[in-house]
Amino acid sequence: MKVLVINCGSSSLKYQLIDSESEKVLAKGLCERIGIDGRLTHKPTGKDTVSIEAAMPNHTAAVSLVLEHLTDPVCGVIGSLDEIGAVGHRIVHGGEKFASSTLLNDEVVAEIEKCNELAPLHNPANLIGINACKELMPNVPMVGVFDTAFHQTMPKTAYLYGLPYEYYEKYAVRRYGFHGTSHSFVSKRVAELLGKDYSELKTIVCHLGNGASVCAVDKGKSVDTSMGFTPLEGLVMGTRCGDIDPAIVEFIAGKENLDISGVLKVLNKKSGVDGLSGVGSDFRDLSKAAGEGNERAKYAIEVFCYRVAKYVGAYAAAMNGVDAIAFTAGIGENDCTIRAKVLSYLGFLGVKVDDEKNDCRGVERVISTDDSKVTALVVPTNEELAIARETVALI
Ligand code: ADP
Repeated sequence: MKVLVINCGSSSLKYQLIDSESEKVLAKGLCERIGIDGRLTHKPTGKDTVSIEAAMPNHTAAVSLVLEHLTDPVCGVIGSLDEIGAVGHRIVHGGEKFASSTLLNDEVVAEIEKCNELAPLHNPANLIGINACKELMPNVPMVGVFDTAFHQTMPKTAYLYGLPYEYYEKYAVRRYGFHGTSHSFVSKRVAELLGKDYSELKTIVCHLGNGASVCAVDKGKSVDTSMGFTPLEGLVMGTRCGDIDPAIVEFIAGKENLDISGVLKVLNKKSGVDGLSGVGSDFRDLSKAAGEGNERAKYAIEVFCYRVAKYVGAYAAAMNGVDAIAFTAGIGENDCTIRAKVLSYLGFLGVKVDDEKNDCRGVERVISTDDSKVTALVVPTNEELAIARETVALI
């Protein structure tokens, strides 16, 4: 079956058409500047990439353009839309309602809408994508795959904040965690690569991209993760601050003459390694600047790695041990220096890095020595494939 995977943002839409039998990507692409002007980059496998400016007044127009390109005689990869057997939608927040992927019908969509206030920047955009596909492909079954679902197995001990309990009861204020599709995909793959039973393994997954989180997976279940009520908690990220003393919000608001949402904008968009270094959020730029002697860039990298290592240590405690530590996403898959720095803190767990094996990018590989007590690995994530698999499994 051919599955169209859609990841819809407020002004963008990423897509992949995946053949579920071969698990090959037939085409992928990106619509940008939806509602502004519109740009499409369409990459059909084995054919030339198409980049065009095209009016996209709304998401329905964007999906329509994607479908036209998928079926185009020149740059298309399918004969007609009838070949699309299902659509899988990435949805950021499923609240406590969705602990697994779900077939989308009107009732489910209404439940997702109720989660909007938990992810006001993301969920409404995801819903727009769902509605656009429904309008253009009314008879094709659709599945919602939630970033939060994998973490619904977290015990109360891990997901409750030290806040008045009524806030949890009345407003659902608790830790949810994100990147669940990636943590689930990578931790399963770790078990396969090590030839171990998923239900026996204690794995810590470090998803280190622009957004970054660590997850403790005990016997196939997420038992803790570093992102919380929103994706702002936890690690120091590209532009997000991660864990800070909440009292800083009021202090900075006073000093900088900002309101709460002004401060939160700074914490989300102007902090992290970007804010620390003043160089940017991309680790390639940071490493270059650090190599040229930029002290702030050096510290940004050190702070980032130290925070990741602290979480790994905490999760080893949470699971009373750890068998495997996996690195994934842009930084985790590509940056051997960052992996080595993080792992250098973890000698006490019995982690021994093999520098030669660690010198790799974007491949599945064990990077610890044969006598390392804990296996460290690089496992490239593939959220789109995970969504396609979930979609096929449900329909
Ligand atoms: P997201 O999906 O959250 O946008 P990604 O997983 O795509 O993030 O990761 C993006 C980040 O990965 C970039 O900001 C960059 O810092 C890092 N990255 C990508 N390629 C490399 C590389 N070759 N070396 C070091 N870092 C890289």
